[in-house]
Amino acid sequence: MAHILVIEDEPSVAIALRDSLESEGHFVTVASDGGEGFQRASTEVFDLILLDLMLPKMSGLEICQRLRANEIETPIIMLTARGASSDAAFGLKLGADDYIPKPFDVGELLARIEAVLRRSSRQQSEKNIFYIGNVQLDLRRLKATRNGEPLDLSPREFEILQLLIAHSGETVTREQLLHHIWGEHASLFTRTIDAHITRLRQKIEPNPANPEYIITAHRVGYRLVGS
Ligand code: CA
Repeated sequence: MAHILVIEDEPSVAIALRDSLESEGHFVTVASDGGEGFQRASTEVFDLILLDLMLPKMSGLEICQRLRANEIETPIIMLTARGASSDAAFGLKLGADDYIPKPFDVGELLARIEAVLRRSSRQQSEKNIFYIGNVQLDLRRLKATRNGEPLDLSPREFEILQLLIAHSGETVTREQLLHHIWGEHASLFTRTIDAHITRLRQKIEPNPANPEYIITAHRVGYRLVGS
């Protein structure tokens, strides 16, 4: 399942795209003009963008160019007019991943989407990029953003997340976390870990009092879900 942003001003095309993507199990957000599309693509996390080129307020090519200039690497498939191969070539040069001419065959579009998603998840895991909700973590460069804004995480917080991500869905004990972060001779109390987790939740959870991602395993440790 992927979260796909459809930027398309033609309601009938947007609805048809939403229906066929949802029937494949994807989650779809529609933006109906270029301004809204650019805004959402810049501030929310999507797995893929389907981008119409002729849009009110901001053209598809401009959206593509501005996202890439802002280092937003969400894969983009452009919806081009049939015969407008110069647009397609220009779009690819600006950083789009693929294009499909309108009117498109739904089966072909779905196949292209799967191919682009597969390629991008491979590239992301090679680059060590992970998502927890709207938080993007670059574990290689130790950089994080939340809704596209820089998020300040300490090196220890990155280490905690790294271990939780490596065991995503499984419970990691407080002792494992202590050992991972402070090494063999860690003589700190396990509640040090709890204090770090509390601070981390304040940084990454939508509602830190009721965590969605870093779940407490009572008396044992913590488990990361939904990343
Ligand atoms: Ca259009």
